[in-house]
Amino acid sequence: MGKISFDKNKWFVETPFPGVRRCKRDLFFIEKEILRKKTKFQEVFIFSTPGFKKILALDGIIQFSQLDEAIYHETMAHTALLTHPLPKKILIIGGGDGGVLREVCRHRIIETIHMVEIDPEIPRLCQRYLPFVSGGAFQDKRVNLFFEDGARFVKNNLGTYDVAMVDSTDPVGPGKVLFEFAFYRDVSKALKKEGVAIFQAGPFLDFKNILRDSLEHLRTLFKYVVLLRLPMPSYSCGCEYCFILASKIYNPQRISLKTLNSRYNSRIKHPTSLKYYSPAIHLASLVIPSLWLT
Ligand code: SAM
Repeated sequence: MGKISFDKNKWFVETPFPGVRRCKRDLFFIEKEILRKKTKFQEVFIFSTPGFKKILALDGIIQFSQLDEAIYHETMAHTALLTHPLPKKILIIGGGDGGVLREVCRHRIIETIHMVEIDPEIPRLCQRYLPFVSGGAFQDKRVNLFFEDGARFVKNNLGTYDVAMVDSTDPVGPGKVLFEFAFYRDVSKALKKEGVAIFQAGPFLDFKNILRDSLEHLRTLFKYVVLLRLPMPSYSCGCEYCFILASKIYNPQRISLKTLNSRYNSRIKHPTSLKYYSPAIHLASLVIPSLWLT
C-alpha cells in the first residue's frame, strides 16, 4: 500500500442522504479510479481504497465495498430463503451488481429466479469491473433477467413467488418508488399465500425518516414483520444497518436453530465458504436494541 495523501482530490466524499442524525460524512481515500460513467438512470463510480478494496458508488452513495459486500448479500438471501420451508420461485428487485443473486444461486431447491433491474448498465459494468460480486451467477440457467422498473413489474405478476428480495438503492432517484406503500402492497400481492419478502431498509440512525414508515406500511400487509440488524462498515450509518423481513404465515421469530441448521446444511451449496451468515447469526440479527427504535 502506498502512502495516503491528504490532497482533497484523492478522497471520495459520500453524498449525504438527508437524515436527522446523519450529521457526519464519510471519506474514502481513492487509491485508484476504476470507472466513472453516467448511465440513463444514475452516475456510476467504481474505485479502490486500501482498506475497503473495491467500492461501487451510485449517485455518490456507497452500495458496497469488497470488504463487506458478503455481509449484505448473504444476510439478504439466506435469511429470507431459510425462513421459507420450500422456496422454489424467487423474485429479486434491483440488485444489478449480482451479489444477492450469487447467494440465491447457492440454494439447490430453487427452480426459477426472476431478477428485475431498472438499469441494464449495472449488471454489465459490475460483471466487467467487479466480477467477484456475481461470481458467474448471471450464467446460472435458473436466472431470467428483466430490465424494467421493479414497481411496474410486480403489478403484472400476481401470486407468483415464494420469496421476494428488494435490493434497491436508497429512497432517492429510481429507488424512491420501492419505499412507497403501493410498491409494498404489490410485492405482497406478487407473493404466494405463504410468501416471504425481505427489503433493504436503511440505517437505524434514520429510524424516524425511513424505517418507521416502511414498518408501518408492511405491518398492514403481512402478518409478521421484523427488523434484521447487520453491520456495514462501508455505509454511513454508524455500522448498524437494517433489513425488514416480512412473512405471510411463517413467524421468523419462532424458527428454531435446529430447523435453520438443517435447512442450511441440506440446501446451500458450499456453506463453509460463506463469510458472514450462519444460522446462529441469523437468530442474533433479529435482536434489536431499543435505542435503535427511537
Ligand atoms: N446494496 C445496495 C445498497 O443499498 O446500497 C443496493 C445494491 S444494487 C446496486 C441497487 C440496484 O437497484 C441498482 O442497480 C439500481 O439500478 C436498482 N434499482 C433502483 N431503482 C430500481 C427500480 N425502481 N426498479 C428496479 N431496480 C432498481
